[in-house]
Amino acid sequence: MTDQKSKIKNQKSPITKVGIIGAGTMGSGIAQVAATAGCKVKLFDLNLDQLRTAEDSLENILSRLVEKGRIEQVEKKRIQENISFVPQMESLHDSDLTIEAIVENLEVKKEVFTQIEHLVSDDCIIASNTSSLSITSIAASLKKPERCIGIHFFNPAPLMKLVEIIPAVQTDEKITDVCVSTIKSWRKTTAVAKDTPGFIVNRVARPFYSEALRMYEEGMADIPMLDKVVRQMGFRMGPFELMDFIGHDVNYVVTESVFGAFYYDPRYKPSLTQKRLVEAGWLGRKSGRGFYKFE
Ligand code: NAD
Repeated sequence: MTDQKSKIKNQKSPITKVGIIGAGTMGSGIAQVAATAGCKVKLFDLNLDQLRTAEDSLENILSRLVEKGRIEQVEKKRIQENISFVPQMESLHDSDLTIEAIVENLEVKKEVFTQIEHLVSDDCIIASNTSSLSITSIAASLKKPERCIGIHFFNPAPLMKLVEIIPAVQTDEKITDVCVSTIKSWRKTTAVAKDTPGFIVNRVARPFYSEALRMYEEGMADIPMLDKVVRQMGFRMGPFELMDFIGHDVNYVVTESVFGAFYYDPRYKPSLTQKRLVEAGWLGRKSGRGFYKFE
């Protein structure tokens, strides 16, 4: 082990200030994780309504934890005091680490990475929570691509233990080490994955969704039946419940991205059924309707 590596392993996480871009499902969950671990978090979103929703939702989640006796009131207060909800990206200027969790679109992400690099110091690590896009391609939008990395949380971030860490081709090895030790200090399990489409989990998961969609399209069984059978095999959710939970906009675009990135290998072909849900705005739980209806 090199001196640098042993130093990183023995020290507490060097990251104390975290900037998060995008206060949607993932950004707000990641903010909760980092704030619980003691980091000072600034959560930024362009959409003010979304920022308010994220703040209200954190209040509800933490209140429920207090009611259930999982955390004390003082802990709730501490977590909330660690998070600021900010409407301007400039507020993230003093971050040690920024994590982007906006729409799954390469061009939009590259644009945001260029903007954030202008604001932060040269030492700030700039990460993406992308589910499927090339970290190498995102890194190429930076002047210092060696500080770019994928830090991929799963939904819901506060509950899911695993986090994939994805170094780009350009990423400095020391940055990967710092991210692994930081995410471990946030009480998560890490898996360092190569920068390939969908990384590990989203590649393995594609056939889970696509085969279930094909079975439904072929009329083999209805959706509740397919979900029920999969649950009875020991999965926590069936494939349709899980797609509704993730959001069809997010899930469909990840399938499209993996399909394209593997040169249109038919194994990853997206489903027209899911595409129609996206077009209808039936995005799942978050919009009140997907394969199922939500009150
Ligand atoms: P989401 O739609 O819930 O939230 C995205 C947020 O980003 C929105 O609040 C939007 O207002 C904001 N936003 C968009 N453009 C912005 C910009 N330029 N600057 C600031 N904010 C901006 O999406 P999500 O489900 O949280 O997904 C975010 C990322 O995380 C995507 O890359 C997705 O692939 C990935 N991801 C999603 C899941 C999941 O299950 N939903 C799981 C793992 C990773």
